Amino acid sequence: METIVKFFVKLFVKSCVKFRVSFPFANLLFAGPVPAARVGFMLAGQARCALSAAESTMTQKSFEVDPDTGLIHPARQAPSPNRDARPGSRKPSLIVLHGISLPPGQYGGGDIERLFTNRLEWDAHPYYRQIRGLEVSSHLLIRRDGALVQFVPFSERAWHAGESTFRGVRRCNDYSIGIELEGVDETPYDDRQYPVLVAVLKALFRACPGLGARDLAAHSDVAPGRKTDPGPAFDWLRLYDGLAAS
Ligand SMILES: [Zn+2]
Repeated sequence: METIVKFFVKLFVKSCVKFRVSFPFANLLFAGPVPAARVGFMLAGQARCALSAAESTMTQKSFEVDPDTGLIHPARQAPSPNRDARPGSRKPSLIVLHGISLPPGQYGGGDIERLFTNRLEWDAHPYYRQIRGLEVSSHLLIRRDGALVQFVPFSERAWHAGESTFRGVRRCNDYSIGIELEGVDETPYDDRQYPVLVAVLKALFRACPGLGARDLAAHSDVAPGRKTDPGPAFDWLRLYDGLAAS
């Protein structure tokens, strides 16, 4: 009997280490801006890691970040002029997840990339009049089909978060990585996007010591009242399940 108990205790500890169980408790202790419900997702993800391991092996993808160039591979590179140096050469300590589609609700076109590279035709759609002249970017975009596009090296500052605050620190662009998912707040994100997002995050965690699951936030978390993306349709539990799986 004692042996069986020891076995399960060991198994539990191993699972905790695997999912970095300290993160949810750290969030509880420090009452950061990540919603309490998200902490529940983290714990549930940890509990379900065995289940999702099977799923992840079926859809496993792998990326690597080159620390010299700040580029991720494999990804299509579409360099954006909307970037500059991180103040004080700060290292990324936050990853902000976004949802975007252009025109809103339409997928598969080239206008997100045109916007991020200052080539959008402002008269091509009525919505674009509202954003005319906007100069923005993100580090990465994950398309509906899972295709990965990089606009800005991680070592540089992308212009994705705008006026924002995380853990009491303003100007999230200075110290964050922005990842856009092609989608809208209320419509489920595509099945092909999650495994890519998980694999990208794992590559970033490997490349940036100290960066982990507790450093993930929605754009709506860092700019509440101003931004709503990636919205209620984004499946945080599925994301944490994927991160918990090896
Ligand atoms: Zn956003």
